Amino acid sequence: MQGIVAQPRFYDVSEVRPYRVHMRIVPRYVVGQVVLAGDAAHVNSPAGGMGLNGGIHDAFELAAALVAMLREGADDSRLELYDRRRRPIAREAILLQADRNRARMRERDPVRRRALLAELQATADDPIRCKAHLLRSSMIDGLRNAALIS
Ligand SMILES: Cc1cc2nc3c(=O)[nH]c(=O)nc-3n(C[C@H](O)[C@H](O)[C@H](O)COP(=O)(O)OP(=O)(O)OC[C@H]3O[C@@H](n4cnc5c(N)ncnc54)[C@H](O)[C@@H]3O)c2cc1C
Repeated sequence: MQGIVAQPRFYDVSEVRPYRVHMRIVPRYVVGQVVLAGDAAHVNSPAGGMGLNGGIHDAFELAAALVAMLREGADDSRLELYDRRRRPIAREAILLQADRNRARMRERDPVRRRALLAELQATADDPIRCKAHLLRSSMIDGLRNAALIS
């Protein structure tokens, strides 16, 4: 804190809660009657704010699967579809993007850091790339791609 906002008297740190940043995913979301979603299925760096959002997307897809099974006569294979739709998205879109976000924030080499930020700025300045970036980072792309999996 002194390095960021120095003050004459040192900050009084009353509590420190370090946490370990994970990048993990289970090999299957569905085993028998046990179905995983959210952090129980995948955990990632908080950089980019993707964990909870990804978990909510899991919950939407899982709710659709349960409605189909309980009300519309679908069999257990609907849960396999839930796994096929959500697990690749978590692995390829959420975990990898969160890791890229974290790597950008952790970069200490000033030259490399400037290059990464310049790349982000160039994306922001280009409407087509900017829209593609927003669709990807908001995970709307992931939802659309998942819906195509049958
Ligand atoms: C610092 C930080 C910042 C973050 N920022 C963002 C962000 O900006 N945007 C974003 O999308 N995500 C963010 N996340 C991630 C987000 O917090 C998680 O992805 C989300 O909370 C996961 O929700 P969940 O319901 O799957 O799991 P959890 O929130 O972990 O909920 C699981 C619940 O189950 C309970 N539980 C555990 N074991 C048992 C048991 N045996 N019996 C009964 N209950 C039990 C726990 O107490 C807990 O309440 C952040 C995470 C961190 C650490």
